[in-house]
Amino acid sequence: MVRTRVIDVDPVNPSESALVAAADIIKRGGLVAFPTETVYGLGADAYNREAVRRIFEAKNRPMDNPLIVHICGLEWLGIVARNVPEEAHRIAERLWPGPVTLVLWKSDEVPGEVTAGLPKIAIRFPSHPVAMGLIERSGVPIAAPSANLAGRPSPTTAQHVIQDLYGRIELILDGGETLFGVESTIIDLTGEEPKLLRPGPIPVEDLERVLGIRIRIPDYAKGLSEAGVAESPGMKYRHYAPETPLELIEAREYDDISLYSLKVLEIAERHRSRGFKVVILASRETGHEYAERGFRVIELGSRKNLYEVARNLFNSLRAVDSLGVDLAIVEGFEERGLGLTIMNRLRKAARQNRIVV
Ligand code: AMP
Ligand code: MG
Repeated sequence: MVRTRVIDVDPVNPSESALVAAADIIKRGGLVAFPTETVYGLGADAYNREAVRRIFEAKNRPMDNPLIVHICGLEWLGIVARNVPEEAHRIAERLWPGPVTLVLWKSDEVPGEVTAGLPKIAIRFPSHPVAMGLIERSGVPIAAPSANLAGRPSPTTAQHVIQDLYGRIELILDGGETLFGVESTIIDLTGEEPKLLRPGPIPVEDLERVLGIRIRIPDYAKGLSEAGVAESPGMKYRHYAPETPLELIEAREYDDISLYSLKVLEIAERHRSRGFKVVILASRETGHEYAERGFRVIELGSRKNLYEVARNLFNSLRAVDSLGVDLAIVEGFEERGLGLTIMNRLRKAARQNRIVV
């Protein structure tokens, strides 16, 4: 058992004293949970093998699932990676600081513990003032996965981190709710062509514009299959799932939304007639229809603003378990822009997945 401190920080203008206290813990090999623009991260000094091992322990994370190294400043790119291709510089210059992670060849500076023994390293320059301030004052790159217990939905508030990691880490910086609410986009630039490993807040379409090429979307980036260890080891684990069984109901397209919601309603009614208590995670456009039929509804946001849906996603998945229901149903979203990111997370979270129209 570790004594966990929680310090409030202003997410826009974090106080020097909070950042220095957190950086001291990092420098001494401790673990600090901190807000980023995606989700909360659990950070340790990436150069300290023992500290990095403690991240895996605190999260119960499988040892073969590598971490992302967080830097503050483009000059670090050439220190933690080698043979950095021109595409990496282009993305870094255009989209960093921000929610996109580059997979490149690892330099010898970074110990193998960080990348689970892989020759490749995942690197990100976050844009959150608390994350930036912490990395800067620590003076080292910070290795950080999401600050949740392995398998659970990623944390978008400090309360989520407290639920999962209290008593396991030294410090939690509470900077309120995170902006995007889903983990970074990951793109591997070590091969002949760029490979999307995980969709995130930066849509693939934006990366295509920056690189001037089309990017193929593999099935595992859609959440439809598991990635091999060589692709992205973390993708093979079950993720984000609430304890309550979750059923994802998809449409091939969502143009006829009233027909789709009718199908969702049919399935929900069927479960209810068997005596199950059901909650439906739904869009603003359709949620009221289920509520009118007496179903509990968690509203995810509007289909016209998928940023809102992404931001509410993990919080809603966590909320399901506190409702005392037997089953949760979640609607699907069109797989364009942020919709691809949302569907990747939902397919990994769901125990069952069906297509109705
Ligand atoms: P998390 O921050 O918890 O989402 O975990 C980091 C994610 O980045 C995991 O899904 C990893 O599989 C992925 N990742 C980290 N390093 C690498 C790497 N060297 N190659 C491929 N994927 C990586
Ligand atoms: Mg994670």
